[in-house]
Amino acid sequence: MVFWAETVDRHELAAVQLTRLNSQIERVKRNLPALAHRFLEHGVGQKPVADLEELSAWPMMTKADLRAAYPMGLFGAARHEVARLQGSSGTRGKPTLVGYSQDDLAMWAEVVARCLTLVGAERGQMLHNAYGYGLFTGGLGLHAGAEHLGLTVMPASGGVTSRQCLLLEDLRPDGLACTPSYALNIAEHLVETGKDPRHLGLKWAILGAEPWTEEMRREVERAFGCDACDIYGLSEVIGPGVAAECHEAKDGLHVHEDHFLVEVIDPATGQVLEDGEDGELIFTTLTRQVSPVIRYRTGDIASLNHEPCRCGRTTVRMSRIKGRVDDMFVLRGVNIFPSEIERLVLAQGQLAPVYLLRLTKRAAMSELTVEVEALAGQDGEAAARELGRRLHDTFGVRMAVSVKDPGSLPRSEGKAKRLIDERDPS
Ligand SMILES: [Zn+2]
Repeated sequence: MVFWAETVDRHELAAVQLTRLNSQIERVKRNLPALAHRFLEHGVGQKPVADLEELSAWPMMTKADLRAAYPMGLFGAARHEVARLQGSSGTRGKPTLVGYSQDDLAMWAEVVARCLTLVGAERGQMLHNAYGYGLFTGGLGLHAGAEHLGLTVMPASGGVTSRQCLLLEDLRPDGLACTPSYALNIAEHLVETGKDPRHLGLKWAILGAEPWTEEMRREVERAFGCDACDIYGLSEVIGPGVAAECHEAKDGLHVHEDHFLVEVIDPATGQVLEDGEDGELIFTTLTRQVSPVIRYRTGDIASLNHEPCRCGRTTVRMSRIKGRVDDMFVLRGVNIFPSEIERLVLAQGQLAPVYLLRLTKRAAMSELTVEVEALAGQDGEAAARELGRRLHDTFGVRMAVSVKDPGSLPRSEGKAKRLIDERDPS
């Protein structure tokens, strides 16, 4: 099942996007006067957009806008039209809430079903869904999309890894959905209890909700003997389902452009960047009714590629997320994303695919310690020296490497926390 919009001629697609964009802007002007006022302040929005490139002159929205509008100040629909609420976890205070009409829920299920098809799922197969169910969009988002495609869904939710393993062994699902770090946690648990994860017979894994690397993909694919593909999304745009990798190429995530318009900007200047240039992803929802966003700043760093894909789809592909704008840290003047260190840890071979980065401050200088675990039977100290050398070669700055006892680093039960910042806030 490949939806027409995924293989359509790009001019035809642009015409559909433009029509949908203008009706989305009309909805905002009708129902969200404060946002419409901001358009006017920027000298845009008086007349319909004639060309998609005009959008680069429009003001952007941020997470702070959503926070300030808590709980439902940016809902562009009457209360009785809101069928569902979801949101972010709000670890730093109040959550941000988004709403969905019945039509929004149907669109969401469709785009997630398309993501599942991208990674190789087929009607009649079974999905083990280990994304958390609740305010977080992962669980319910994958659930509805899988049902829409005609899969059998096991709503395992996150955590209680021993029970996840029991269900996986007894039901032998075709697919697994969770964060990549949790997939490895499940594999490790199976091995520790004397089982071989490859014997589960998994065909595909659809993994997301945290940045991950090619090296991590190889670990998951090796552990389970299945295809592992990336899925991307965020509640402010829809939830999971914004984009996913095709299993044919595994070379960038196809964006569902008939519903989500994507741009990449320089986060410092706001200037729109060309294909291949890393910058911040910006999304505009084209069809969302209750929580529309126009040029929403995601904080995620990636690049775009408009080349046709060998799977036959013509939709733009975004690269893996390199990191979040706010995850980046500076060490001796070098900008570093945790995912760049992950690549080196996993490429090492003698180290377990878990790590923790600890930032401290000594004599006014930031110091980074990379905490790792050696695999059984490996010389941990030698592996640490080798990793230290590779880190220095790659970044040009020294980082300490500390080898911990096997099993002592925290294992992910959802989104992995990779960076601990112990520097004084100053
Ligand atoms: Zn493709």
